[in-house]
Amino acid sequence: MILRVFKYNELVKNYMSNDELVERLIRNGALKTKKIIEAFRKVKRENFVPKKYKNLAYVDQPLPTYEGQTISQPTIVAIMTEALQPQKGDKVLEIGTGSGYQAAILAEIVKPGKVYTIERIKKLVEFAKKNLKDYKNVVVIHGDGSQGLKEEAPFDCIIVTAAAPKVPDVLKEQLKIGGRMIIPVGDRCSQNLILLKKKVRGFEEVNMGPVVFVPLIGKYGFK
Ligand code: SAM
Repeated sequence: MILRVFKYNELVKNYMSNDELVERLIRNGALKTKKIIEAFRKVKRENFVPKKYKNLAYVDQPLPTYEGQTISQPTIVAIMTEALQPQKGDKVLEIGTGSGYQAAILAEIVKPGKVYTIERIKKLVEFAKKNLKDYKNVVVIHGDGSQGLKEEAPFDCIIVTAAAPKVPDVLKEQLKIGGRMIIPVGDRCSQNLILLKKKVRGFEEVNMGPVVFVPLIGKYGFK
């Protein structure tokens, strides 16, 4: 036990600044693209974690937010953003706003393009709105994101940051031809990260490997 506490403190000490975290994400291969790296440098994770976890903001691990939910591990945020390859001017849909951290990264990359982000838990909607107050190109919506956002479709990119039992057809329909979607698919305990690219006919699908996310709860998610 004493040894584990010691190792953990070392870890915290080793990754105390955002710049150090970004360097680590470049070294571990999660971050590759210049404009995505710039966004990670600009968006400080400490501004998106609850007060009591601020000292852990730059440790590469998920952290609790509120109501049993989490802000994702930085390595996973980096891998999903790199897979999605958002471009300047893109219209993006995020499902699972949580803290707003992923939305802020996307907003930096696509500006003047827009990010629509949906969260089902009211307390997190308020938390994210406060964290995202300086991002004029992010719209935070309270609702069931498993149904997408028909009124703003089609999207260049869709990112689902909660685990779905299958890829909702309604989200596939809301993607542009040439658009990309990243989504964890599996059961409540473990999933695979799936990258979909919409073609003129059908979808190209890549399995990016195992992940663990909190469940997508809603009409086209878990009950
Ligand atoms: N992207 C977030 C961030 O940057 O902090 C982390 C998201 S957390 C891993 C997953 C979030 O999905 C939770 O906040 C959860 O409440 C939300 N969620 C689950 N089902 C949802 C649904 N049907 N619609 C919208 N949000 C949902």
